[in-house]
Amino acid sequence: MNKFRHSMSYDIVIVGGGIIGSAIAYFLSSNPDYSGSVAVIEKDSTYSYGSTARSLGSIRQQFSTPENIQISQYSFEFLVNAATTLQVHDTRPEINLIESSYLILATEDGLGQLKSAHKVQLDCRAPVEFLDKDTISRKFPWLNTDDIAAACQGAGNEGWFDPYSMLIALKNKSLSLGVRYIEDEAMAVQQQNKLVTGVRLASGTNIACGAIVNAAGAAAGGFAKLSQIPLPVSPRKRCVFSFTSAESIDDLPLVVDPAGFYVRPEGDSYLCGWTPSESDPDPDDFSLEVDYEIFDDILWPLMAHRIPRFEAIRLSRAWAGHYDYNSLDQNGIVGKHPDISNYFIATGFSGHGVQQAPAVGRAISELMIYGRLVTIDLTNLGYERVLSNSRYSEHNII
Ligand SMILES: Cc1cc2nc3c(=O)[nH]c(=O)nc-3n(C[C@H](O)[C@H](O)[C@H](O)COP(=O)(O)OP(=O)(O)OC[C@H]3O[C@@H](n4cnc5c(N)ncnc54)[C@H](O)[C@@H]3O)c2cc1C
Repeated sequence: MNKFRHSMSYDIVIVGGGIIGSAIAYFLSSNPDYSGSVAVIEKDSTYSYGSTARSLGSIRQQFSTPENIQISQYSFEFLVNAATTLQVHDTRPEINLIESSYLILATEDGLGQLKSAHKVQLDCRAPVEFLDKDTISRKFPWLNTDDIAAACQGAGNEGWFDPYSMLIALKNKSLSLGVRYIEDEAMAVQQQNKLVTGVRLASGTNIACGAIVNAAGAAAGGFAKLSQIPLPVSPRKRCVFSFTSAESIDDLPLVVDPAGFYVRPEGDSYLCGWTPSESDPDPDDFSLEVDYEIFDDILWPLMAHRIPRFEAIRLSRAWAGHYDYNSLDQNGIVGKHPDISNYFIATGFSGHGVQQAPAVGRAISELMIYGRLVTIDLTNLGYERVLSNSRYSEHNII
């Protein structure tokens, strides 16, 4: 008896239907130069566990590599126009884009890095202002600047949006353009002569394909292993805490503190989180249990020091999610496998994948349709650097 219950065939199979996989599906299906079929394999159509719906949905121009800045510039414009671009019949998606800014603070130790990133940002024409200590104190009188040397603040194209709504908008538009979403788990990849020929699903279904995209988020490293492809991407747990404060701050941007925490407003409350330092990284962790001691022992004291108005705060809710953490250089891996020429990869965004989805989706679609990058040159983010173990580091990791 045939062990496969059904078999089907698609030109392109995307494994992972989060915001990255759905953006790729959208850019493939909306391109008039592409007429092939696309299937997205997603094991959880509720999106309860993936990174996208658990993210903060923030977007910034303040990166240290030109590629990430250009990605954000493209993506921000896409977000601004999303209601029109992703409209299906009479339904215009609402992604709740709030235009605000990031305020990235630096101590004397971090001043060199702040300045060199700012130079790259200006070279890329990103509207980012350098603020000296006096200016920070004048502009943000609620901030303790005792140990702060300088800061950078975005003067446009930064803010936050609802990542789940954006994902669903990309998915609905892709569905309307003929993409098939299949709720199942990809369990194995079939290959012949260094080419992917198909994917086997947990249900027993066997799908033949002309090309595959690994967009499995925090599970991408594990999924690549099934094909003996080394990919240094694994789940790193990050907790988000929502709190209210007795004293409010009306003009709070998204503050990034040199001690490793961030805080931003969300309606009448605030969201904050903490990132372990690169020199003392946390272990891989696929659990979703909130580590409340991070709030009590680390975040609260750090925030009360930096923003004394946050001394009297009340925790209202919290959740955990996973960074698709690239342990090589904490940067996205976007490209094609050099030896398996129909295996594409889009993962490893390490905390900035939601904002990068439009540009990354477009880039992968261009590689698949035209065989080259057209809109933004993302060669430096390609998979080859994994094989040669050469880092292309993003220093502004939050
Ligand atoms: C707390 C937190 C805050 C964040 N804040 C931000 C932010 O402010 N800005 C920002 O840009 N980014 C942020 N991020 C990062 C961002 O969430 C991720 O980089 C982004 O969501 C990655 O998208 P994805 O589609 O690759 O992953 P996911 O959304 O995880 O999608 C991958 C999908 O693949 C599916 N899948 C996995 N394996 C298989 C398989 N074998 N078969 C079928 N399906 C499979 C999963 O079910 C999942 O739905 C944050 C992340 C966290 C955890």
